[in-house]
Amino acid sequence: MGRAFVYVILGGGVAAGYAALEFSRRGVAPGELCIISEETVAPYERPALSKGFLLPEAPARLPAFHTCVGANDERLTPDWYKEHGIELVLGTRVKSADVRRKTLITAMGETISYKVLIIATGARALKLEEFGVKGSDAVNVCYLRNLADASRLVNVMQSCNDGNAVVIGGGYIGMECAAALVTNRIKVTMVFPEAHCMARLFTPKIADFYEGQYESKGVNFIKGTVLTSFENDSEGKVTAVILKDGTRVPTDMVVVGIGIRANTALFDGQLAIEKGGIKVNGRMQTSNSSVYAVGDVAAFPVKLFGGDIRRLEHVDSARKTAKHAVAAIMAPEKSAKHAVAAIMAPEKTADFDYLPFFYSRVFSFSWQFYGDNVGQVIHYGDFSGGKFGAYWLDKGRIIGAFLEGGNREEYEAIAKVVKHKTTIKDVSELERRGLDYALRS
Ligand code: FAD
Repeated sequence: MGRAFVYVILGGGVAAGYAALEFSRRGVAPGELCIISEETVAPYERPALSKGFLLPEAPARLPAFHTCVGANDERLTPDWYKEHGIELVLGTRVKSADVRRKTLITAMGETISYKVLIIATGARALKLEEFGVKGSDAVNVCYLRNLADASRLVNVMQSCNDGNAVVIGGGYIGMECAAALVTNRIKVTMVFPEAHCMARLFTPKIADFYEGQYESKGVNFIKGTVLTSFENDSEGKVTAVILKDGTRVPTDMVVVGIGIRANTALFDGQLAIEKGGIKVNGRMQTSNSSVYAVGDVAAFPVKLFGGDIRRLEHVDSARKTAKHAVAAIMAPEKSAKHAVAAIMAPEKTADFDYLPFFYSRVFSFSWQFYGDNVGQVIHYGDFSGGKFGAYWLDKGRIIGAFLEGGNREEYEAIAKVVKHKTTIKDVSELERRGLDYALRS
């Protein structure tokens, strides 16, 4: 039993959707492309799961957030794939891959072969068990990575009306879920080991602002400790969490957001791995030239950081790496057909030049971050609830910028100074002028 395609995208998440659109725009022929996904629905905008999907009133539901609406582009419903002759093989897990033979084998035993493979397997949520804590399978313990998780979270939330929740983890999943729980009138306690929330990105001053806002909505923070065990009732439902410092927190439900791991396992030992992801070059090509990797699973060179290999877990990177890989894959064919294109698009120009970008929205707040958050930090603006942000400086140049509450022009301005690595001669001027500095650069 088997099928053969020219192009196969393994994984049906954000990157797969954006890759499919790019393939169709570059003229893929019907029957040439297939997407294999463990999920039972066509690619969708995953960030919606912790935002619109969890709203108590008029929540977002498919088909409203299929890719590529997140980039204000076409919405690829299952019909779109049919109309474009792109095969969606859904509800199908690939259980092994052989890059030498160019084949994938599904859990049902079907062999799918390809000429070119794009790995877009994303990442999975880390389980408590990986940290030595048991009990993830309790009916009221939730994770959030895919639509099935989100639907389950909504059901558990609805059974906890006016109840209590403990959120384990202070990253963006924890923060966005905590905000959603509060909006659903559930009282939240957040537990995390770091000194403040969003420790990988926020400075203590930025974190202080958001924590203050959460506290004003009744959220209780327990920092500097971790969960060690659960207390369960006779039906196995969690009734309390026990922390390392001995604290016992009674609860009606638990949401766990303690990080992710890239889904590389199918290719371990077959492709080069770096930074926990599949290593690719500037054209998203892995150590096997017929295999590309994009999105959360890819570790790629970031020109802006001197070619440093990074694995980014952000939606913008998933969208753009996907488009870039397809451009690189389809370019040689185009070049062969059109001599001019071959001259206009030599291989070198295809190296990915990306400005890392990440955003989040909670309650009425909304922020964007560009670049890298290392080096000297310069805060600016109104930290009492207005517009504020920070720049990160390395060797006198701006390499990162954060802004809460900006408009489009302002976000573009901070992105620009990071992209240009603007040199700062007078740090006190940058501090004084704040956002205005970026706007007038
Ligand atoms: P995914 O979208 O995770 O897709 C991977 C796909 O591969 C899935 O469909 C999976 O089922 C499938 N798959 C994996 N292994 C196999 C296999 N063996 N066989 C078949 N199929 C397989 N980023 C931001 O920048 N801002 C945000 O606000 C934000 N919010 C988020 C909120 C949530 C709840 C989550 C979970 C993520 C959020 N992100 C956000 C991150 C963003 O969604 C990811 O960076 C993005 O989804 C990565 O896209 P991807 O295609 O690489 O992986």
